Amino acid sequence: MQRWTIVFFARVNKGVKLTMSDCIFCKIINGDFNTEFVYENEYAVVFKDINPKADIHLLVVPRKHVESLNELDDEILLGKLMMTVKNATKKLGIKSYKTLINTGKEAGQEVFHLHIHILSGKMHF
Ligand code: 5GP
Ligand code: ZN
Repeated sequence: MQRWTIVFFARVNKGVKLTMSDCIFCKIINGDFNTEFVYENEYAVVFKDINPKADIHLLVVPRKHVESLNELDDEILLGKLMMTVKNATKKLGIKSYKTLINTGKEAGQEVFHLHIHILSGKMHF
């Protein structure tokens, strides 16, 4: 490979940012993995966490790709997401639960598509 080609790829790769097409939650929302949605509405989908940290562990995920709470500037969407927590838990008969939003790598965020954890029953940590 010629030197200029290597330099070109190095530059391009350095600037690579996770795009929506690389995002696992966007793929789930898109139906790529046939993930079952236990609840859904216009704004969000709710599905079971693949690696549950509680007896019941659900994720509320906005249909719109937003990396984290730090990038969210839509108050209406934030309200809709919290109402989704309320309506989904009510529909599923979950009366008592914790909610959690990990924001940023150091806080434990692994998937950079905003999501709200719903944890109920015995915690597994
Ligand atoms: P975070 O650490 O970003 O707040 O939470 C990400 C959560 O997504 C983790 O609890 C992890 O188990 C879950 N998760 C990661 N990949 C998948 C997946 O492909 N399917 C499902 N259902 N959950 C996932
Ligand atoms: Zn996404």
